[in-house]
Amino acid sequence: MGNAILPGSAVGVLGSGQLGRMFAIAARRMGYRVHTFSPDTDTPTGQVADVEVVAKYEDLDAVRKFARDVRVVTFEFENVPAATAQAAAECAPVRPAGSVLHVTQNRLREKTFLRDAGFPVTPFRAVRSVADVEAARREFGDPVVLKTADFGYDGKGQVKIDADTIIRWKWPFQAPDRILEAWVDFEREISVVAARGIDGSFAHWGVIDNTHRNHILDVSICPADVPSTVAREAVEIARGILEKLAVVGVLCVEFFFTKTGKLLVNELAPRPHNSGHLTIDAHVTSQFEQQLRAVCGLPLGSTRQLRPAAMANLLGDLWEKGEPNWPEACAIPEVKLHLYGKLEPRPGRKMGHLTVLSDTTPEAKRRALAARDALRPT
Ligand code: AMP
Repeated sequence: MGNAILPGSAVGVLGSGQLGRMFAIAARRMGYRVHTFSPDTDTPTGQVADVEVVAKYEDLDAVRKFARDVRVVTFEFENVPAATAQAAAECAPVRPAGSVLHVTQNRLREKTFLRDAGFPVTPFRAVRSVADVEAARREFGDPVVLKTADFGYDGKGQVKIDADTIIRWKWPFQAPDRILEAWVDFEREISVVAARGIDGSFAHWGVIDNTHRNHILDVSICPADVPSTVAREAVEIARGILEKLAVVGVLCVEFFFTKTGKLLVNELAPRPHNSGHLTIDAHVTSQFEQQLRAVCGLPLGSTRQLRPAAMANLLGDLWEKGEPNWPEACAIPEVKLHLYGKLEPRPGRKMGHLTVLSDTTPEAKRRALAARDALRPT
């Protein structure tokens, strides 16, 4: 810890969305200065950072200058171009390293890494033509899921294919790389958010249960109601992945828990994750403070959970009939409101979230849903 980057220092964030905002709030609370870099102005991160640098990710001179002005660079979304991470690394440590970004920003590379390292994943193939798709369908059986390899998130750039849809189906994506996956008949989706320090120390927040709506995370609860053997196995898989990638920072492992009781890794996010937002209110150390501690070389903080918790996302759709009814939701006991400072509430856009603490997770979830319902203007 001798070379730790101490409070008072400046930390840089590539990207300027809500993840950067919550990271910046944690960093400023601990006395750090925060610089953010993205092509946009008045951003969720920029609104709470000390310095908002506005430039294109491809402007490598601007990236180098940004990195020279801070002690460490981290990122808040994984689609930062590789050249940008590389240019930053010439001037300051980048944590997690660009190599972690490289693996995780392409589904094909990510799944290949996981499979080759012995982590459980659903069968998949790289596909470049309709003939490849047909061959993989014969091999895996229907249904299958075709995804773009690059720049996919929240279910964007993916299509489910089976005998009924194949007739209407056209080669849908312009992207050169695609991955075809066997369909997973899952009972539920869970995640493990975990952190690894510069010294190899490891921390996690246990297993979080996630439900999605239209492919976007809707509600998370923690702790997830899974057998303890499954929870232990999920955490050990996460530990193995962070070790193998030599992550310094936070990484989220998203899993399918299948109807036959198996864990399969679906996706990695090399940063704090939406399913970990409840750690801000429900745990001693949040995923954002942990990211800061890890990238600054400080000891990782306690991840002890204070109370069972549920988190419900607030999407732009809530604004359809006017301003949400904030006082109604805030009147519900133990509701914590988080808004990201986004000016335009578009449908499907993540505008904020609610976290509710309670004695039990079902009760926390019930109140989180009630609080969200109460927001709808009548
Ligand atoms: P992804 O963008 O890969 O995380 O996928 C978004 C969502 O689509 C997941 O959270 C799942 O609900 C669903 N999904 C993705 N891949 C599969 C699969 N191979 N089998 C079943 N459902 C899937």
